This record gives sequence, C-alpha cells and structure tokens, in this order.
Amino acid sequence: MTEGVTGQTAEVIVLGAGIVGVSAAYAVRQQGLSVILIDRREPGSETSHGNAGILSSGSILPLNKPSLWRALPTYMTNRHAALRWDPAWAIRNIDWLVRFFANATTSHIKPRATALHGLIGASLKLHREWIVKADAAQRIRETGWLKAWRSDAVAAAKEEQAFLAEYGIASQILDRQAISALEPNILPVYKVGLLHTQTASVDSPGAVVKAYARMFVGSGGQIRQSQINAIMPDGDGWRVVLADGGISARHVVVALGPWSADLLRPLGYRVPMAFERGYHREFKPNPARSLQRPIHDAEGSFLITPMEQGIRVTTGVELTARDAPSSFAQLDQVVPVARSVVEFGEAVGEPWRGARPTLPDSLPMIGPAPRHSGLWLAFGNQHIGFTTGPATGAAIAAMIVGATPSFDASAFSPSRYL
Ligand SMILES: Cc1cc2nc3c(=O)[nH]c(=O)nc-3n(C[C@H](O)[C@H](O)[C@H](O)COP(=O)(O)OP(=O)(O)OC[C@H]3O[C@@H](n4cnc5c(N)ncnc54)[C@H](O)[C@@H]3O)c2cc1C
Repeated sequence: MTEGVTGQTAEVIVLGAGIVGVSAAYAVRQQGLSVILIDRREPGSETSHGNAGILSSGSILPLNKPSLWRALPTYMTNRHAALRWDPAWAIRNIDWLVRFFANATTSHIKPRATALHGLIGASLKLHREWIVKADAAQRIRETGWLKAWRSDAVAAAKEEQAFLAEYGIASQILDRQAISALEPNILPVYKVGLLHTQTASVDSPGAVVKAYARMFVGSGGQIRQSQINAIMPDGDGWRVVLADGGISARHVVVALGPWSADLLRPLGYRVPMAFERGYHREFKPNPARSLQRPIHDAEGSFLITPMEQGIRVTTGVELTARDAPSSFAQLDQVVPVARSVVEFGEAVGEPWRGARPTLPDSLPMIGPAPRHSGLWLAFGNQHIGFTTGPATGAAIAAMIVGATPSFDASAFSPSRYL
C-alpha cells in the first residue's frame, strides 16, 4: 500500500469528522493507508460535541424495547419529558415508526443487546487506549454512571441489574444513604439508585474528538474543512465533490451522522433514518456542590453531567424532522427538576440542539454499501454514538483492508435495509 497523500487523492476519504468519522480515519491510518478526513466544521462540533459524554457499558437495550408499549399512553399526550413527537412528522414517517415499534418486542431484545454489547465492549477498550495516546486522559472519569429513582423502584433496579448481569455488566443497587455517600453534594431526593460501575464519562466530548483528530493528523492523516456536495463513482473508485474542488479515492467512508442519508440518496440508497433530537443547556456549577459522575434521573427523564464548562443538563427525545425549528419545551420542563437534585447557577451560553441518528432497529450501519465497491457506511449510532464511535470506525478500517473486526459486526450490515 502506498502511504502518500496528494492534495487531491488518497486511498481513503472519510466524510464527517464526528466521533465516528475521526475514529474511522485514525483506524484506517493505523492500517497504513493514506486518508483525508473532510468536514465543513472543526472535528467534533456537531452531535459529538453536545452529548452527555457518557461512555456507557450498559446501554445495550435501545429505546424500542417492550417497556415502550407500557409507556406509550403517557407518551401519546406529548407532555412527557422523555418523548415529544410531531404528529405531522409521524404521519409522514409512518413506515419508520411501524418498523421501529416492530422491534420493540421480547424476541428482538437479545439479538440486539448481544450485538450492541460486542460493539460497546470493543469501543470502550479503544476509548481507554486512545484517550491516553491522544494526551487527553485527564478528561475521562472512571466513576461510573448513576441511574436514580425518586419512587420505591427497587424492583425496576433489580430487573435492570439482572439483565445487565447476563452480559457480565456490573452494577450496584443503592439506597438513599448509599446514594448520599456516593454523591454527597446532591439533595436526598432519590430513594433508589443503580450505579453502572464499568461506565466512564468525559468532561468535554467535543474536546475528546478534537484530541483524537489531532492524533490522526499526528499519525500522518490529513483534514480538509469543506462542504461536501456529492459522492460519485469514478472509474475504480470515487470522486468527492466539495464546495471548493474535488478529491478522488479508491474508498469512501460515509460517517456523516444525522446527515448520512442525504448524500446516499442520489446513489439509489434510501436509508430509513429518523432523528431522535435532544437538547442540552449548561449552567455555572456551585464549586461547593460538585458532582462526581453523570446522573440519570429515571422518572424526570434527563441527565446531569459535570462538564468542563459547567453542569450540562441533557433532555430526552424529540421525534421530528432533523431541521425543524427548536422547541425548548423539554429543557424548560427538566431544568427546574434538575435544580431540585443539585444546586447550580445561571446558564452559560445558549441551549444546544442535536439529532441522534436512528435506524428502525436502533443498530448502526457498519459495513459496505451493497451495490457499490469501495463505499463504506458508518452511521446510525443513535443514543450511544459517542461510546460506540471508535469500534464503529475500527471495524470499517478492518473491513477495508480485508481483516475481521474485533467484534461480531454481522448485525450491523447495511444490507439489512439497503
Ligand atoms: C442530547 C444527546 C445526548 C447524547 N448523549 C450521549 C452519551 O452520553 N453517550 C453516547 O455515547 N452518545 C450520546 N449521544 C449520541 C451521540 O452524540 C451520537 O450518536 C454521536 O455523536 C454521532 O456521531 P457521528 O460521528 O455519527 O455524527 P456527528 O458527530 O454529527 O458528525 C457528523 C459530521 O458530519 C459533518 N457533515 C454533515 N454533512 C456534511 C456535509 N454535507 N459536508 C461536510 N460535513 C458534513 C458534520 O459537520 C459533523 O461534524 C447523545 C446525543 C444527543 C443528541
């Protein structure tokens, strides 16, 4: 394999510099191929910037699980903090909704949980290795993740613990006193907690992606900042049409997160992607009331994560068009409840909105495009893309050089939908 990159060609072009694209670019570079990574923004500026920063060992049960049916009557009211939905969007996307709900059955749990467990395990291993190599180890906290209930939810916590234990995922059930001992600065509002002990978190997901991007450049990769307008077959390879020119390569990796479907449509691929939008707002922390780890308020349906810039409150899901105007109803609903958990000051900066890219089975697409050689798909990482980005990218890199990924990627094959 040649190693050189000229301004206009490389062996591999990676589209999108979120956590998935940066990871793919670095992993391909580690295979010795020349790589250009393209994004219209700085690496890690979109969905991979605004998430809750949790590197979750236990997120193996997607949102479309059997308990979704029980919650449905509440969600239909369109007032719950966990899920808001746009009726006009729902009518236009009824196909996606039917397929999404068809996966929320008992028989669909284990195959998806097993697949996600493999992907997550491989990814956490890479994160822990890369964050050190990227000189960003100070950003990771190995303090776990606390899910907490205000009601007497011991049965729910035990059920979740037993399910995770089947996959070897450790957790601890806590009572009010144990929660206070663990997080002495929160108010005693929670009766029951489940501490995911093997989960880590970071204090700035965007900064971690930027550190991985620097590591990619340090390994000989090249980043180009430009709007990508099209991808077109070109001889044995591909031509990527940019706002300011074009680049050719044998292989192209589409890692454009929530924008991935757009450039694939002209090639005849209709990707069934929906957007589980979410918001965050950051607040000045009270130094005397610091948090040790992210907290998931199970009944309030929000997360609080201590970040570099302050306390980040992130919301549940808003199902609507990717680019529909923002609605801050969920943030307005959860921020006062978050204040009942921990004291924090005024808002820092503006509210942020992002879109979790989700396919009907809540599994990402990782693999070759079915009808085009040299076209690789790496997107749809839903709620856990920050966690699963590294192994998603590493699997694509392995496939490009004809090697086997370090986990079983068969459930993520794009051909299941395309
Ligand atoms: C509120 C919220 C909380 C979350 N919390 C967590 C969490 O705690 N843990 C976790 O693991 N995951 C979490 N997630 C999910 C996670 O953030 C996403 O799954 C992940 O960031 C997706 O990464 P990506 O690289 O696929 O997409 P992105 O990060 O969106 O990257 C796509 C890139 O493509 C670029 N792009 C798109 N179109 C073009 C174009 N035409 N030309 C040039 N560039 C283009 C964009 O600029 C962008 O940089 C959360 C998501 C949300 C919304």
